[in-house]
Amino acid sequence: MNSLYCLSCKLFAHTQSESKLSLVRRESFTNWKKVGERLSEHVNSLNHKNCFCSWKNLETSLGKRGIDKDLQDDIEKEESHWKAILHSIVDVILHLAKQESPLPDSNETMDFSDPRCGKFLNTIELVSHYHPPLREHILRHRKGQVTYFSSKIQNEFLEIISNEIREQIMEEVKEAKYHAVMFDCTPDVSHLEQMSQVLRYVRVVEMFLKLLDGL
Ligand SMILES: [Zn+2]
Repeated sequence: MNSLYCLSCKLFAHTQSESKLSLVRRESFTNWKKVGERLSEHVNSLNHKNCFCSWKNLETSLGKRGIDKDLQDDIEKEESHWKAILHSIVDVILHLAKQESPLPDSNETMDFSDPRCGKFLNTIELVSHYHPPLREHILRHRKGQVTYFSSKIQNEFLEIISNEIREQIMEEVKEAKYHAVMFDCTPDVSHLEQMSQVLRYVRVVEMFLKLLDGL
């Protein structure tokens, strides 16, 4: 914009008198011949000094151990705790899905101490022996807090995972030069006719083998 702005005033000028400063306004400073004079005038102004102090105070309180830093640490701790838990739950879902094992249905007991609680909760329980955050999470579950163990959330996770996989497949199909779409109908165990949709595509792979000389 061929203009000059003051960072601290741009960020911290809140009152009208502060934002009236020429170095803060959008039209800003364009009279380059008087730049030296105007800069020292600005730097020595009370408004600039206030803004500069606000900036430095915020920087110090974020950098040092203060209320903000403690709060920030707590947020980060909470974040990594939930990430670790979600990671293990999604891993168990994928593990069961690969084996075509059923995930909990809405009628299934959600009690870990009940041996009939199903493969999902049993596997989560096993993993928790080696995963302290998950063990802690199961204790929370007993107190009735948010757990991500319900059948509804399992289905949501599966939906998200399958969408992601489908998108990756579609990307590969787009890159491949040739592809075919196939449909096939077969009845399942309950004699319900089901149609499977299959994509067949060619992936071109280039591999360097060796250099040949004297040919
Ligand atoms: Zn300034």
